[in-house]
Amino acid sequence: MKSRKIIYGSIAIGMCVVIVSGVIIYHIMHFNDVKISFLDIGQGDATLISKGSQQILIDGGPDSTVLLEQLGKQLPFWDRNIEIVIATHSDGDHIDGLIGVFENYSVDQFWHTNAGKDTSIHRALMHQVKNEADIMDIIAYRGLEAMIDVNTRLSVIYPFDSDVSDIDDINDASIATILYVGDEIFYLGGDLSSEIEDVLPIDDEITVVKASHHGSKSSTSEIFLNKTKPRDVITSAGKDNRYGHPHFDVLNRLESMDINIFRTDTDGTIIYNCNNDSCNIILNN
Ligand SMILES: [Zn+2]
Repeated sequence: MKSRKIIYGSIAIGMCVVIVSGVIIYHIMHFNDVKISFLDIGQGDATLISKGSQQILIDGGPDSTVLLEQLGKQLPFWDRNIEIVIATHSDGDHIDGLIGVFENYSVDQFWHTNAGKDTSIHRALMHQVKNEADIMDIIAYRGLEAMIDVNTRLSVIYPFDSDVSDIDDINDASIATILYVGDEIFYLGGDLSSEIEDVLPIDDEITVVKASHHGSKSSTSEIFLNKTKPRDVITSAGKDNRYGHPHFDVLNRLESMDINIFRTDTDGTIIYNCNNDSCNIILNN
């Protein structure tokens, strides 16, 4: 009887070792890949850029529990540090989930603007950041960059100025970034409306556009699409959301221009895995 217990115990320990080794080997094999994950966090935005042990999280969606579950799937279990957290703007569907990130991970830098909504969660978030002496608190505007490796950088293209406190519509104070991964280029524009997007100085053709404001009809105009010529457009929105995101006008526009559409509400988390200068899309994560 005793020896049977020992055999079962040994098998259980052996299986644990195999599983943990498999996870470690998987992460080592993909250590040099750059991954851009549009996380399925419901009605909101959360985009994770990762390479090895480096991570940049842009927005956190509306719910900490959902976000932490999604991050747990993408980050190696031993990595409890996120290098940069960016709040594009202070609407709840972008920042409410970030509270749990600051409680559960160490964060090196927090990028945001000075356009703040006076909500209890926004105040709590800023309180968390101010109380952590190790977090660099950075007001982001055009020109700020993060180098991830020699081929990969994240560049802030909007706001044009550090002071955006007088912009009436907080969506139009969103931080917009361009991510260069070799020749592949991603545009991430928060909730900017066409009024701003159409005049953004973008010279490059973009590979992947994250449709601003969850695919609302007030963003991702024909002018913007003609300027950026994306191959793929991502919409980040919750299933059967009450706003009707993504709007059928935007979907029709994209279809008529032969642009691929991927949606977190129907495709789940959407991942681009980039190595050797090309990015492959992985769905249903
Ligand atoms: Zn939003």
